[in-house]
Amino acid sequence: MPNRAPTAAEQFESLARALADMPVLTRRLLAEHPASDGPNQGHCPGCTTPGSRRTVGAPCSIRALAMLAQRLRSDRASGGARPVQGSSGRIGASGSRLSPT
Ligand SMILES: [Zn+2]
Repeated sequence: MPNRAPTAAEQFESLARALADMPVLTRRLLAEHPASDGPNQGHCPGCTTPGSRRTVGAPCSIRALAMLAQRLRSDRASGGARPVQGSSGRIGASGSRLSPT
């Protein structure tokens, strides 16, 4: 057990990082959890099956997770952390340093 429990954001990011190694699963999650536009009136169909009565607004957290995973993967593909002019919106959690290749 670590001294400090990871925050929800840290857990979310480490899960996204693991998911970044599984592009097929990432694409499937994105397909099953679409953005809000579509015939579902802003409800995520992926989160309401099977048979749940509770509606989850789209885009849901699973979609956000898959999108983050996709971004982490493309960051890796482009050779790691490249600073973008005028944007400091990178994930700021400690330990998110990607080793350059
Ligand atoms: Zn969903």
